[in-house]
Amino acid sequence: MNLKNTILTSTLVMGTFSMANAQEKTKPEQTEVYTPVPKVVSAKAVLTTPPSDANVLFDGKDLSKWVMTNDRDKPASWKVANGVFTVNKQGGGNIETKQSFLNYQLHIEWQVPANISGKGQGRGNSGLFLASIGKGDDGYELQILDSYQNDTYTNGQAASIYKQFVPLANPTNKPGEWNSYDIVWTAPTFNEDKSVKTPARVTVLFNGILVQDNTILKGPTQYIGDPAYRKAHGASPIKLQSHGDPSEPLSFRNIWIREL
Ligand code: MG
Repeated sequence: MNLKNTILTSTLVMGTFSMANAQEKTKPEQTEVYTPVPKVVSAKAVLTTPPSDANVLFDGKDLSKWVMTNDRDKPASWKVANGVFTVNKQGGGNIETKQSFLNYQLHIEWQVPANISGKGQGRGNSGLFLASIGKGDDGYELQILDSYQNDTYTNGQAASIYKQFVPLANPTNKPGEWNSYDIVWTAPTFNEDKSVKTPARVTVLFNGILVQDNTILKGPTQYIGDPAYRKAHGASPIKLQSHGDPSEPLSFRNIWIREL
């Protein structure tokens, strides 16, 4: 076989192999990663006062800037009390912003309740979808989870880009204490034929610690199989997840955004 044929054959074999590989990923476990385990870093939440040009998405009083994801005509049903709001696991699912955003800087504080139960992905699971691009769980999930002494796949722990990128460190505070995310999001752009032009990028500080450093996303979050950009979209709402596990619900406070 000459060199050209060898390369051609190899390419075909590789192509067949990667197609077969893609087809084989029919179970969620196939896209779980367990090493490396990010090092534990002790760091307290960065508590901010919204800057003068911020759009405050939650000021401790009401969820008037949020709606139910599955019925955007309905107001967000999650419960507001004592300056925070809490996931309503009986209340119809995820919530998202009324407004859509493209590129932004976002601050959010979140807390796992002190009495949390469960383990792994079933312990204090929520998520911040950096762009909500459809009903259900469609979008790009920055994971929120109780990752304080709670092992799970590392590309599913707190501050992972779920099932894509492991965080660079684990500064999760213990249940009952607050955590903060400071995020810079650059939305993907698409060509006229709807193929991806520039992929999404994200930088995340978790309790002030760099955990995602200009990470280039492979596409929207995919629970089963490999992620890819399959749908063109523009500005999108920001979504918070009501996860289906039975553990005690998380709370949020002090959410603000600056459009870039
Ligand atoms: Mg989640």
